[in-house]
Amino acid sequence: MRQRIIAGNWKMYKTIAEAEQFANAVKQAELSATVEKVICAPFTALSALSAILKGTEIKLGAQNVHFAEEGAYTGEISPLMLKELGVDYVIIGHSERRQYFNETDETVNKKVKAALQHGLKPIICVGETLAEYEANETEAVVRRQTEAALQGLSAEQVSVSVIAYEPVWAIGTGKSSTAENANQTIAYIRHVIASQFDQDTANAVRIQYGGSVKPDNVAGFLQQSDIDGALVGGASLTVEGYLGLIAGA
Ligand code: 13P
Repeated sequence: MRQRIIAGNWKMYKTIAEAEQFANAVKQAELSATVEKVICAPFTALSALSAILKGTEIKLGAQNVHFAEEGAYTGEISPLMLKELGVDYVIIGHSERRQYFNETDETVNKKVKAALQHGLKPIICVGETLAEYEANETEAVVRRQTEAALQGLSAEQVSVSVIAYEPVWAIGTGKSSTAENANQTIAYIRHVIASQFDQDTANAVRIQYGGSVKPDNVAGFLQQSDIDGALVGGASLTVEGYLGLIAGA
């Protein structure tokens, strides 16, 4: 049985003060124990959030990581530094990083390996652009991105990783994929992992859907056979939204 996982991706939103306010409010709420809960915050808010969320069931995630442990990489953050802050998860290969910051299949793979080596669980993002979707290339794109991201990993490392299928055309647009379509692509990703590794590994890995998920549509996605959770941007930014997503999961 795969545990469901709801992760908020705050992107470049929230100052430390705003993050603290959010965490203190969420901490007071009754949360479903069956769903794994994650907040992926900007680097600057991680330390404060770590202190507030310590001892709660809400886990902390980052939104990027460098693949080296240390070095002359101005402006970068290493997996060791994230681990020190009490971070459990790290988003790797989000489409915004692929699009604006030169993230490639190769750097994604290096980052995934580095994260796992330091005990961080990667949330690996894959998904097609609108042009690729319209050209019927969804399966080819998610296959290429998934195989590249997981290349050289052990089956055990894949089992603890999370994949997030986020069609780029559904991010922040209010246009979500239908639950059935998302499920079909996610089942395909599982099939790709079964071919690359084995069926047990494919059955163990959790695959989220992301792209305009809201409290009122999250249940529809999670009812599907292969969708194990959601990676949520906009709707995770308010306390009400985040709690609604967990309640709906
Ligand atoms: P939205 O939920 O705002 O569409 O963003 C999705 C996303 O990119 C999560 O990583």
